[in-house]
Amino acid sequence: MSAQKATKRKGAQNVGHAVPIDRVRNIGIAAHIDAGKTTVSERVLFYTGRTRKMGEVHDGAAVMDWMAQEMERGITIQSAATTAEWRNHRVNVIDTPGHVDFTVEVERSLRVLDGVVVVFCAVGGVQPQSETVWRQADRYAVPRMAFVNKMDRTGADFHNVLHQIRERLGARAVAIQVPIGSESDFQGEVDLLEMRAFIHADELGSQVIESEMNDDLRITAEMFREQLLETLAEISDDVAEYYLDGREVPVELLRAGVRKGCCSGEIVPVLCGTALRNKGIQPLLDAVVHYLPSPLDRPAVTGEERPGKVVSREADDSAPFSGLAFKIQSDDYMGQIAYVRIYSGTLHAGDQVYVPRLDRKLRVQQIIRMHANSREQLEEAYAGDIVALGGLKGIATGDTLCDSKNPISYESIEFPEPVISAAVEAKTKADEEKLVQALGRLAVEDPTFHVRIDSETGQTIISGMGELHLEIIVDRLSREHGLEVTKGNPQVSYRETISQAAKAEGRFVRQTGGRGAYGHVLLEVEPLASGAGIEFENATVGGVIPAEFVRATEKGCRDALESGVLAGYEVVDVHIRLVDGSTHDVDSSDMAFRAAGSIALRAALDKGAPVLKEPIMSIEVVTPEEYLGDVMADIQTRRGQIEELGTTAGGSRCIRGFVPLREMFGYATDIRGLTQGRATYSMEPHSYQVVPEKITQEIVGRARGQYQPAS
Ligand code: GDP
Repeated sequence: MSAQKATKRKGAQNVGHAVPIDRVRNIGIAAHIDAGKTTVSERVLFYTGRTRKMGEVHDGAAVMDWMAQEMERGITIQSAATTAEWRNHRVNVIDTPGHVDFTVEVERSLRVLDGVVVVFCAVGGVQPQSETVWRQADRYAVPRMAFVNKMDRTGADFHNVLHQIRERLGARAVAIQVPIGSESDFQGEVDLLEMRAFIHADELGSQVIESEMNDDLRITAEMFREQLLETLAEISDDVAEYYLDGREVPVELLRAGVRKGCCSGEIVPVLCGTALRNKGIQPLLDAVVHYLPSPLDRPAVTGEERPGKVVSREADDSAPFSGLAFKIQSDDYMGQIAYVRIYSGTLHAGDQVYVPRLDRKLRVQQIIRMHANSREQLEEAYAGDIVALGGLKGIATGDTLCDSKNPISYESIEFPEPVISAAVEAKTKADEEKLVQALGRLAVEDPTFHVRIDSETGQTIISGMGELHLEIIVDRLSREHGLEVTKGNPQVSYRETISQAAKAEGRFVRQTGGRGAYGHVLLEVEPLASGAGIEFENATVGGVIPAEFVRATEKGCRDALESGVLAGYEVVDVHIRLVDGSTHDVDSSDMAFRAAGSIALRAALDKGAPVLKEPIMSIEVVTPEEYLGDVMADIQTRRGQIEELGTTAGGSRCIRGFVPLREMFGYATDIRGLTQGRATYSMEPHSYQVVPEKITQEIVGRARGQYQPAS
């Protein structure tokens, strides 16, 4: 055995390959765009010693923004996990993107992390998007801490943000620090548990010096400490015992109380600082290791051993191995890597893991730990950890990996269907093959991005979640794959469905000498609720149609659903009932029933008063008051529906509503013009709704007139 082999984790004392599980923290850093998430993440990596040089976001050197084009855009899109070490703890930072176009990415990271640091801007406070992230974290019951960033900015108001977290997010937020000074005079923070004041002396914030509190500061600190003690006394009997007797509560008990409240989600500890000016990050890291949960503090995870049989796994190294792949990425050295959260057991390099979705075993060739600017090859990885695995061909986001003798499937991650498509073409013939391969790789990494070849035109069609999404893809083709492509105008992905029940017959009969063909079915169709998909029911009695021909009929129906009768879009939300039919002793075959199924279904759709459905986006616009009228009027001309009108902490107005995607092309440019570039907006797919009659006629007319290529 090589001397480098990882020490067995049990009893391991030092941070090295093996960190005891109670010293592991899997955290995300989430925020409204521009609140400072990237800067905070980057400072975290700086202070944990893995980043030599601190780069600013605006000069593009931020470590977490490691895709060149992300830096240019200044938004973080792809999740990644980076390991840092702090006070003998391992902190895995899972990147959670902060742009509403990509909330799917946020949800997928929430699945695998144990705690979140939510960054708020000390001026902007609780902005609409912080609310979105908060609600998502509520849904996954993820414990949280709040960091009030940008304390150096004019207008910074820690107490106001604290108040907003309570009021708008309904959280039991408790300050565990109060700021020393504010705006340009912000110097550091008072730790309310220890009642000690700390000042960040030098520009890089590496020197943290304890200082005296003046009377004003002491009074404020004591007031907030009193609130903290009161809250802790309510959730911790140990604290209550001292507090109610009027005795000084030992710091360890206070820490344990905050930890208990934070891990159970009862309280949200609130801290402050300024990432840009390097103040408050070390205390934030201390709080992460003190208060956010380790994998042991989280409930056991459940999955299915087989359909219907629920089993659970504890975060224990000796339990059967199981994990969830939450991100697939192409890697220059290893081909494809999968980021995996290990929920239970121990994984060794070279092990075979079972993937229930593929019903196959795959060999783990490498186990890698990603640091901010280096990677480390591991022999083993343990329960509770997050690692990157190489060599797992065919694995996809959301796959469970497990011990083949103890199978389990965790609930897969659900991804919305793309709503927008565009044709792409390589500029040179020679690059065509490369383009198809590159798109295939991108689609594996990003489950919300689809690629297909249009069967009528032979064009390559890419589909995604919005215009920006497709632009980013084209950007990546050029940057990462050196491919110059032309992209057609994006097109809305419509769907078709029916608006009333109908019945139709399908016959496929050929009797021209030799063996003929005979398929005959009678179908009923009914509209289903939006999002219900397609259901197929066999309601025939007495075996009029043998099982194999029922299957063939269903196949035929599904073939026909790919291209609807109105304008050739995919058909959704229909219940199909096979009610009758007939067979011929000699001539009936799968092929004939498949054809009869298709014929009957198309006829039934025709009679079912078919309608088009279009993607409706939920939109959020933040604009200065003076442009509010124009922005709202503009949304209304786009057939938009305004649901809610609010005011942000900074005094801007926030409009929320729904708008058909069809009306939103070029919105980025239009809104810039309307508001002199002062409004920001974000949108994401919300639902599909029926297209108004007049617009339906236009779309159908175009589709039927002459085939319009997708560009
Ligand atoms: P993200 O969109 O949440 O990732 O935010 P970034 O980290 O990209 O920060 C947005 C902008 O705010 C950048 O220009 C940062 O330099 C700036 N910024 C970040 N933290 C602070 C801070 O503490 N104080 C001030 N004044 N600006 C900050």
